[in-house]
Amino acid sequence: MIVECIDICKSFVHGTRTDQILFDVNFSLDAGEYCAILGPSGSGKSTLMNIIGCLDKPTSGTLILDGEDVSTRNENQLADIRLQKIGFVFQNYQLLAYQSALENVALPLTYAGIGRKQREEMAAEALRKVGLEHRMKNRPSEMSGGEKQRTAIARAMINHPKILLADEPTGALDSRSGNQVMELFEALNEEGVTVLMITHDLNIAKRAKRRVRIYDGILSQEVEE
Ligand code: ADP
Ligand code: MG
Repeated sequence: MIVECIDICKSFVHGTRTDQILFDVNFSLDAGEYCAILGPSGSGKSTLMNIIGCLDKPTSGTLILDGEDVSTRNENQLADIRLQKIGFVFQNYQLLAYQSALENVALPLTYAGIGRKQREEMAAEALRKVGLEHRMKNRPSEMSGGEKQRTAIARAMINHPKILLADEPTGALDSRSGNQVMELFEALNEEGVTVLMITHDLNIAKRAKRRVRIYDGILSQEVEE
């Protein structure tokens, strides 16, 4: 198992009030799976993805990633785990506005301590793989939404993460660009990458090989068709 969530709860404190957002979430993902978490807006999808992606910590419960209990890790340790094991794709791309596609894709390699020439070669190869060899020098403002998301996918995959986490990856895209993103995920999963995608869109969720549903912070297993 590459991801195991055991009785994960998450609450946010607002002044004197505490809002519980996730309720005893139990979820596991095997290496090589392509799974979608489907749920409406506000159901706790991004909160759960941020916990699985080590961007946030559960209030209680255990998260095991790639055989390692990460629930008790500190911020620095979580940053290392993210760098080594997780690739992220977000609805709003999260690209640096004043950097070219090549520089954006190469950025995680800087943190991994790889030299400039090798970084650029690896980033160029990653952009070729997502069909953006003609966009390497362009900044995000010069690219379409679909091109920005494919750049973000190239960046997410540059460190060869064990798991690709995608939060509403097609949420800002037209259907044609969204379809290209889905085709890329399918190709990556064929290559053995574990993909966990979060979406409110059943048609997008149907592209994954397995679905679970979340509603009001409660996760339930397999969605029957
Ligand atoms: P989804 O991604 O399914 O739309 P979210 O996980 O973003 O849902 O949000 C679920 C609920 O948690 C919402 O009511 C939201 O307001 C609340 N929430 C999310 N993040 C925070 C936070 N950092 N502080 C307080 N409340 C939050
Ligand atoms: Mg969300």
